Amino acid sequence: MEIIDLRSDTVTKPTLAMRRAMAEAEVGDDVYIEDPTVNRLQERAAEIFEKEAALFVPSGTMGNQICVKLLTRPGTEVVLEERSHIFNYEMGASAVLSSVTFRPVRGEDGLLNWKMVSSAIHHQAPYYVTKTSLVTLENSHNMAGGSVIPTNIAKEICDEAHALGLPVHLDGARVFNTAIALNEAVAVIARPFDSVMFCLSKGLGAPVGSMIVGRKDFINEARNWRKLLGGGMRQAGVLAAAGLIALEESPEVLSEDHANAKRLAEGLAELRGIKIDPERVQTNIVIFDISATGLTTLQLTAELKSRGVLANGINLREMRMVTHYDVDREMIDQTLKVAKEFVSK
Ligand SMILES: *Cc1c(COP(=O)(O)O)cnc(C)c1O
Repeated sequence: MEIIDLRSDTVTKPTLAMRRAMAEAEVGDDVYIEDPTVNRLQERAAEIFEKEAALFVPSGTMGNQICVKLLTRPGTEVVLEERSHIFNYEMGASAVLSSVTFRPVRGEDGLLNWKMVSSAIHHQAPYYVTKTSLVTLENSHNMAGGSVIPTNIAKEICDEAHALGLPVHLDGARVFNTAIALNEAVAVIARPFDSVMFCLSKGLGAPVGSMIVGRKDFINEARNWRKLLGGGMRQAGVLAAAGLIALEESPEVLSEDHANAKRLAEGLAELRGIKIDPERVQTNIVIFDISATGLTTLQLTAELKSRGVLANGINLREMRMVTHYDVDREMIDQTLKVAKEFVSK
């Protein structure tokens, strides 16, 4: 049985071109900043994002957490959306590493605007109120179904926060998907932010790694923290070689993942008891409510798995399916066929 793995876009396997590049990568010791392939990846990322510098890190979580560390002070608060990855899926790392607390805000479809953010900011409050030190946005928003913040709204949040002296970090794990959805360059999306993290290991298909981009002094500090956290990786050029291909070549084909996600959402919307608005599927993530089918997500997950389709429930009501380049259109149709067997039309 062919397995259709829709659990995440992290499950992609490196392409043949990536494996070849990895085998042939020119390497050095990256802790000495002497790995030519890592250096090239960092230069290209900085160029593409039109930022001064970039740093290759082992994971998106490490990238986000280094940025939180550098942009906050102990005993302050970070304002973010309540379903965001930094808040929910990074093991409380900001509490452990940066001694900060979170002020989560519920966005509409995961999307924040300045009004929502500003209502959560403690700026000129009395001394005994915990002060805000940082705002973070997530674009596209993973747990809000891959929703996308328009650039003018992100820019307004950044500009207004900056006017209060607050930096803004972008968790852009899937910022290339955002760029496709908005038909804009990632540099335009990244422009108003102080720092951006993006993943090579998600839809871009690299086996390992994420990048942070920002000002040169910021990235130099980030390199110290990467080492402190155990992320100094020596001959990391074998990984960066795959990352370079992911960065240069994968963005062009992400629109196929979006078309597949849309097709999946439209098919699911026709099944009785499944609630999803296909119009809201803007990128490669499809989240749908199955509570009216009479099944729990645990049951449906098990049923789908028995027929070769892997997907995750994100709670008892909602399932998430993520498209990526190891899933083609036929697999989407097969997924819909299987889903129909368990959810009547
Ligand atoms: C995957 C993801 C991360 C973290 O990436 P890892 O490499 O898994 O640590 C951060 N933010 C978002 C929105 C993600 O989806």
